[in-house]
Amino acid sequence: MKRYPLVAGIVLVWSLLGGVSPPAVAQSAAAARPGRSPTQPIDEQYSKKIREYTTEPFFLSPLVDYLPASKTVPTPAVVLGDIAGAPNKLPYSKEVYEYMRLLAKATPRVRVISIGTTEEGREMIAVAVASEALMARLEANRAKLAKLADPRSIGMNDAQAAQLAAEAAPIYYITGTIHSPEAGAPTALMELAYRLAVDESPYIRNIRDHLITLITPIVEVDGRDRVVDLFKWHMAHPNETWPNLIYWGHYVAHDNNRDAMGLTLKLSQNVLNTYVEWKAQVIHDLHESVPYLYDNTIGDGPYNAWIDPLLTNEWQMIGWNNVQEMTRMGMPGVFAFGNFDTWSPGYLMFMAATHNGISRLYETFGNGGSAETLERTLSPGETARTWYRQNPPLPRVKWSLRNNNNYEQTGLLVSLSYIAENRQLILRNFYEKSKRSILKARTEGPAAYVLSADTRRPGTQAELLRVLQKQHVEISRATQPFTVTLPLRRGRADGQAGRRADTTARQGPSPADSTKKTETRSFPAGSYLVRMDQPYSRIADALLDYQYWSPTDPQRTPYDDTGWTFPEGFGVEAVRVVDPKVLEIPMAPVSGEIRAPGGITGQGDVVAINHNGDNALATLRYRLKDADFQAAEEPFEAGGRKFNRGTFLIRGAPAAELDRATKELGLQGFALASAPSVKTHPLRAARIAILHTWIGTQTEGWWRQAFDFLQIPYDYISVQEVAATRDLRTKWDVIVFPPAGGSVQSIVTGLPMWRNPMPWKNSPETPNIGTWAQTDDIRPGLGWEGLSHLEQFVSGGGVLVGVANTASFALQYGFTSGVSLNPAGQSRVVGSLLRSRVVDPASPIAYGIIDSLAVLSEDGESFSVNSTLGGRGGGRFGEQAGRPTGRGTANDPDVPQGRPALDPRFELPVRPTVEQWQLPPIQDDQLRNPLNVIPPDQRPRVVLRFAGQSDLLVSGLLSGGGEIANRPIVVDAPRDKGHVVLFSINPVYRGTTVGSYFLVFNTILNFDNLGAGLKLEAR
Ligand SMILES: [Zn+2]
Repeated sequence: MKRYPLVAGIVLVWSLLGGVSPPAVAQSAAAARPGRSPTQPIDEQYSKKIREYTTEPFFLSPLVDYLPASKTVPTPAVVLGDIAGAPNKLPYSKEVYEYMRLLAKATPRVRVISIGTTEEGREMIAVAVASEALMARLEANRAKLAKLADPRSIGMNDAQAAQLAAEAAPIYYITGTIHSPEAGAPTALMELAYRLAVDESPYIRNIRDHLITLITPIVEVDGRDRVVDLFKWHMAHPNETWPNLIYWGHYVAHDNNRDAMGLTLKLSQNVLNTYVEWKAQVIHDLHESVPYLYDNTIGDGPYNAWIDPLLTNEWQMIGWNNVQEMTRMGMPGVFAFGNFDTWSPGYLMFMAATHNGISRLYETFGNGGSAETLERTLSPGETARTWYRQNPPLPRVKWSLRNNNNYEQTGLLVSLSYIAENRQLILRNFYEKSKRSILKARTEGPAAYVLSADTRRPGTQAELLRVLQKQHVEISRATQPFTVTLPLRRGRADGQAGRRADTTARQGPSPADSTKKTETRSFPAGSYLVRMDQPYSRIADALLDYQYWSPTDPQRTPYDDTGWTFPEGFGVEAVRVVDPKVLEIPMAPVSGEIRAPGGITGQGDVVAINHNGDNALATLRYRLKDADFQAAEEPFEAGGRKFNRGTFLIRGAPAAELDRATKELGLQGFALASAPSVKTHPLRAARIAILHTWIGTQTEGWWRQAFDFLQIPYDYISVQEVAATRDLRTKWDVIVFPPAGGSVQSIVTGLPMWRNPMPWKNSPETPNIGTWAQTDDIRPGLGWEGLSHLEQFVSGGGVLVGVANTASFALQYGFTSGVSLNPAGQSRVVGSLLRSRVVDPASPIAYGIIDSLAVLSEDGESFSVNSTLGGRGGGRFGEQAGRPTGRGTANDPDVPQGRPALDPRFELPVRPTVEQWQLPPIQDDQLRNPLNVIPPDQRPRVVLRFAGQSDLLVSGLLSGGGEIANRPIVVDAPRDKGHVVLFSINPVYRGTTVGSYFLVFNTILNFDNLGAGLKLEAR
């Protein structure tokens, strides 16, 4: 037994190497104690390196302080040239895969499976490790797990389930390095796979014999190869500053761990498909940002409201056992609980939580994408001893990649051992949770969600249903019309206005009929049903339901978005039906991907396609680039049908091509014998640039993704290209500038120009940095030159789209007149869905947009508008109604003493109330010298505003709301011949706000007619 003093006078760490074991752990008696087998030789050289690269002995554990030797199975050193976690060595995905495949070739205990590719075509793999016996019956084992995963398959027979749980081996799925600068997991997982395959110690054998470990060593493969490029560049240029990892995956960075709801990224789809196909019980995702090992599985409240409480108990059991065992091994800084709330189901690991398994996540301590050994100083908050962190991390240590790998492997092995030991319980719970997900329809409910066949947005509805299909949710379709009973909604603001606007109004008693508690609603045949009596009901419920985060919740710092209700964000209705009778209606399961019906009906030269906000309309415009597209400026009727304002009128497209395109895109066109007599203007396939900075590309990545998915072509340019391009207008019609990282000023100034240039470039040194965004030096920003080019672009007839901080950029640098940004003030919003209202339905930007659409607001920002320069609110128009302090009651006039009673001639004229979204009318005295009066055709035009306070919250957290309600959120600000279109909300967000995308597409397609339908003020 050795003791390692940490701090003078404090001795708290034990090494078990060759020493006496602590008291038996709290697992069953069969649990072997961690440590090497005395009869198996160890790889002396490798083991020596482990100790050498570990900076302090107490950063080792008896599970990882040696490596067993094998005559036939290669260690990671054959590929790495050194041991896993060696300083200054980060392997590329190719090397990691090469090693895993060498392992699989050398032992029947390992198998490598390809699970798909990334956006850039790189492979993703899963590595299965178990005993030969278990590997030989993988398929038989999978069949057993499949029965537990879908209890309907065994008639919900608990006895049979217990038998299966006793026989089957659970599957523990580990996912590494989803966050590319959290770079340590791949080497830890290479070594872990070796240990699990080779080690003959009782502890490891017990895992291998009773559990299948499944490992995806790299989740974000594109980002992995780039971070290795960057690290190698840094090593090759030791005296230079190096750039941040600007692009991780092809589209998004850190947000790749917010995609478990929308499943837009390949990595999300590949991991979920693997988890579901293998019928795994756990997803354990590895991150690196907190010293030294934070098991945030347990996390803090509020817990997600749609998961089974059995799971939250499992989190506690497994998490606290983890802390206990690693504490026993003497490793400092291992803790659980912390401040991560478990509300959002957007995290990768949460796929297991929403699919009847167990989600787990570690934050270990990394060196930020570097494999160097570094001196690390921690903050007092990180080293404080709290009730949940009795043995906190040390204030200052040398930290190595190997240390990190030790913690990752030790934690994982402790967890694997726990699950192997408790496999029957885990499998019985897996069955029980799956069964309770099926029973949900008749216990807590709802019984089903219904998506009506008479939707006004069949394309968007199909898109929402496809998200559920990707989530492996079963969907049915009614074979007959049917009627359901719903609880009557009365006496409240119409919180579901957005949904209602999607379909025809419901039937039922009038609100005046106060005795009725229910109403009925009928749906046509062909309506979709998402039954809740299926194993994956919980994810469907979590996505389709509403979220409410109390303003008085003890959790003051929500970790991520608080609301996400998918039907609201998509602008389609999903009716929550509690009455289980809905399960009895005639329906058939849907097989195959759900697509909206499309095609052309009728005969004639002009084809009308109703503008319903389906995003495929924008795709169609670009697919038929050479055809003549016009937008109807008013609603009209033709051929016995009603068409919305904004309806597409198409001429000159070959009929067969148009028919094929509309069928493929799920758009319904109606050929008309003659053009309707309605005012129109051209809808152009505008030339688009999406603009980015070199400071942050995370949020704009979701925009690129949306444009790519919809096949809307664009040039991807940086602020440096704007600075270098004198006449932007000859190249582009619309410059879309999605939210950029950094401050508004940094868009212009860029990064500090001191020290050396920092290239982000595809080169022999950095072969994985993509050619689609490159620069010799990321430091320069837009600069004054670029600012001037951008101004000329707008003045010359171009359209600039600014969103959140890029809207603020346009305001602060004077691109607009009469608009200012309005922070949320005392109100509080954290990633919530808020209700909007269309202010100006004649604006082309609002074509096809439903009134009362739910929009994503990150922090409650909005705009203020004015028809004069200078802020609004200082003058009398911004004043609240009411009287000043003085004599009398609240409604009486004040009376100055010693002055004759006021003659009516001197009274203030009565002026109309000016709403928050309206421009205050110009007064006579302002026109006397109208220097600051904005000419009517240059005044901001409010397209969309927030709803009133009582209607404002759709989903998530809203505290207060007074400073937010009714304020403009989408504003069209003319500037000379062009326009700046400003968004205070984010209309294209994480693939979840599909209903608001068309605000952007309308801006693009109507870029040279944004003034259509504008009623100019007389003065
Ligand atoms: Zn992370």
